[in-house]
Amino acid sequence: MSEYVSALMDQVKAKNPVEPEFHQAVSEVAESLSLVLDRHPEYRTAKILERIIEPERVIMFRVPWSDDRGQAQINRGFRIEMNSAIGPYKGGLRFHPSVNLGILKFLAFEQVFKNSLTTLPMGGGKGGSDFDPKGKSDNEVMRFCQSFMSELFRHIGPNTDVPAGDIGVGGREVGFLFGQYKRLANEFTGVLTGKGLNWGGSLIRPEATGYGAVYFAAEMLATKNDSLDGKTCLVSGSGNVAQYTCEKLIELGATPVTLSDSSGYVLDEEGIDREKLAFVMDLKNVRRGRISEYAEKFPAAVYTAADRGLDHNPLWSHRADCAFPSATQNEINANDAKAMLENGVTVVSEGANMPTDTAGVELFLDAGILFGPGKAANAGGVATSGLEMSQNSLRLNWTREEVDGHLRRIMKDVHSSCVAACERFDRKGNYVDGANIAGFLKVADAMLDQGVV
Ligand code: NDP
Repeated sequence: MSEYVSALMDQVKAKNPVEPEFHQAVSEVAESLSLVLDRHPEYRTAKILERIIEPERVIMFRVPWSDDRGQAQINRGFRIEMNSAIGPYKGGLRFHPSVNLGILKFLAFEQVFKNSLTTLPMGGGKGGSDFDPKGKSDNEVMRFCQSFMSELFRHIGPNTDVPAGDIGVGGREVGFLFGQYKRLANEFTGVLTGKGLNWGGSLIRPEATGYGAVYFAAEMLATKNDSLDGKTCLVSGSGNVAQYTCEKLIELGATPVTLSDSSGYVLDEEGIDREKLAFVMDLKNVRRGRISEYAEKFPAAVYTAADRGLDHNPLWSHRADCAFPSATQNEINANDAKAMLENGVTVVSEGANMPTDTAGVELFLDAGILFGPGKAANAGGVATSGLEMSQNSLRLNWTREEVDGHLRRIMKDVHSSCVAACERFDRKGNYVDGANIAGFLKVADAMLDQGVV
């Protein structure tokens, strides 16, 4: 670690204690940027990196709501408005009991670079709550969302801050949030993305993150004159990103063999085909059940319950060519990374945000496999949110083919930007550095142009 990065990290840790995920995200970016800052002292003089790590604004608020028994419940709501140098704040809302300030700051920080990589004019933000939608009735979720938006609405707007979904926030939640925003602001506007198709949503938005992660893997493979056809793939999670990752993999001739949720995972060596995926979509999106039911329905599959006492996740220990982590942060540690390398994995495309911990990333980079970090590989979601914003502004709806075409082109461009940045800064093949550098340069130059704000 260079002297500059190590001094910066001391400062970050002292100023933001008890935020390990934020430290991890900043440290990775700062490491990647050390060469850029050496070659471009103007960024260092203007303290661009020191400014980027400080959110422009943090909003934290009480979210009171009544459960179905009439009992008062209190959750905590957040919105981190991280950086608006290249456009309005943009980034998802996460509803999960693990949500805290540090996790949302890491996500908002990553979002700044990711949004920049998409080439669309979007700043970075993230928000959410420690509310757990699991086990809640639709009415409880609606009352929570209404209370959450009763505070959030005064901070967001189509030209200010445009939230979307993330873990625990899908079409149902975005609907309730949008309804309450419209009621309070008295305007019908593209203030959220991931909306329903009848009220301003974009075709392909639900599919975009998963499809994009697969397109990114295909682009990486194309650099080796290879493709996804015939590849066996490990996929984690079973929510939005995991489902559409599987869908696109199947379409491109690959075979997904695993899916998971926080209770455990299933391995289906016969492969998860279209029919089985339709079962998963109904299970997760309609019946809101657990992935263990997959193994009850399809006896060839084996279910393994999660064991938090283990020092690894057995999902990652099966023979495969590619891996698409699509659940949550730090779900791949060094033991998992080792197991993946030993079992033939040569492509990792991160659908989730920061699913591989620092030691795991180092192993992948040292092994020289094709490793697509989340900020690049999962940028298709926010890119398509950007396309939803464009359609809202134009009051037009593009066809499925048009949006998918844009998504493909954007993922190709994200890949090319990473490769170009790697080459320019002598980090060939290192998509982590490539994504961090390419994402940084555009934001940093905009910040230089805009003065000390
Ligand atoms: P969903 O809520 O739809 O699905 C999340 C999945 O991950 C569920 O299967 C969930 O299981 C599992 N999961 C969540 N937290 C944990 C945990 N702590 N341990 C184990 N499993 C867990 O979310 P998404 O699919 O939208 O998001 C998945 C990842 O992709 C996140 O990292 C998100 O930030 C990232 N992402 C999402 C984008 C989007 O457009 N939706 C865009 C870019 C990135 P369970 O149901 O049991 O909790």
